[in-house]
Amino acid sequence: MDLMEYQAKELFAKHGVPVLPGTVVETADAARDAAAAIGGQVVVKAQVKTGGRGKAGGVKLAEDPDEAAEKAGAILGMDIKGHQVHRVLVTLASDIAEEYYVSFLLDRANRTYLAMASVEGGVEIEQLAVERPQALARIPVDALTGVDTAKAAEIADAAGFSADVRDQVVALLQTLWTVFTREDATLVEVNPLVKTPDGKVVALDGKVSLDDNAEFRHEDHAAFEDKAAADPLEARAKEKDLNYVKLSGEVGIIGNGAGLVMSTLDVVAYAGEQVGGVKPANFLDIGGGASAEVMANGLEIILSDDEVKSVFVNVFGGITACDAVANGIVHAFELLESRGDQVTKPLVVRLDGNNAEEGRRILSEFAAKAPEGLIEQVDTMDGAARRAAELAAAK
Ligand code: GDP
Ligand code: MN
Repeated sequence: MDLMEYQAKELFAKHGVPVLPGTVVETADAARDAAAAIGGQVVVKAQVKTGGRGKAGGVKLAEDPDEAAEKAGAILGMDIKGHQVHRVLVTLASDIAEEYYVSFLLDRANRTYLAMASVEGGVEIEQLAVERPQALARIPVDALTGVDTAKAAEIADAAGFSADVRDQVVALLQTLWTVFTREDATLVEVNPLVKTPDGKVVALDGKVSLDDNAEFRHEDHAAFEDKAAADPLEARAKEKDLNYVKLSGEVGIIGNGAGLVMSTLDVVAYAGEQVGGVKPANFLDIGGGASAEVMANGLEIILSDDEVKSVFVNVFGGITACDAVANGIVHAFELLESRGDQVTKPLVVRLDGNNAEEGRRILSEFAAKAPEGLIEQVDTMDGAARRAAELAAAK
């Protein structure tokens, strides 16, 4: 899970990384009050999960509370790289003498953690890495020994921090490492880390990605979830532990195995173009050992998507054989009916692999009793994709 700046700064503050006081608000009036409470010059900052807010006009200085309200009014509702601004952070403004960059991240390719630091921060780091790679220090960090004073000093010196801020940076790198490890993050980044004119080092921005696999260790992290921005179908799918991603399209997709589902999306997108432009409505991987209940939950989510006109169930029987999957589909229909959800959108099912014949027989028997045209079987993936696209296009 990626955090917004104000959430990242909450974690920074909790572990002792220096940040400036601020309040997150959702209206221009609240921004006025927040600015008045902070006093003096403030910065109004869009809270969206993307960088480059400054360049996009999402970070603005305000001299007084009225100006803060005005700037907040302009930023709220803005679209920054496809992210709508619902909240702004009103925070004490800081004069800047120098801008730096520091981060810790998981370096998957080298199977280690990595510290990156530069005394040329403020700019986009991808750009710095390309244009002036020598200005960006990269120091591997061993997971077991972590960042002690010596390691922090090594990082600070590799980046070339000057003597007047070195001690502060060395201390900050250690607290930032504490954030990284204690919170189970895969990324912590400060850009810019600034030196104020009176020589203090402060995190002016913050970016944190948390490792979702460690969620069970951090009950408090659930509060970071942005329920308002989350798609309601995705939120419901998450509650049911389904691997579901909402897309914009008309053909609902259920498959077993992420690779198969990905290629199903491609095949349906291609077939959809041939019949006048229908598209896959979602990604849903019900996994290897899908039970009837998982199938029912998946169908329920997909069928409640108003955009969906037809559903393509694409299963390749492996460890879970096709007869079990077919029984799962039958049972799923019964479950849905018992919940009061009558299935009315047509289903195209392709069963192949282990015990395919028995699976197809079970489903044919069930389809014969179901309303005309509700369940169709097609033996090939391409053929089934075409049929599902046709059905969606015909509606
Ligand atoms: P980003 O563009 O999304 O990375 O947002 P940042 O939080 O990094 O802000 C962008 C830029 O705005 C920073 O690099 C600073 O130059 C500037 N900025 C942010 N906060 C302040 C502040 O308190 N005072 C001043 N003078 N500039 C700020
Ligand atoms: Mn930044």
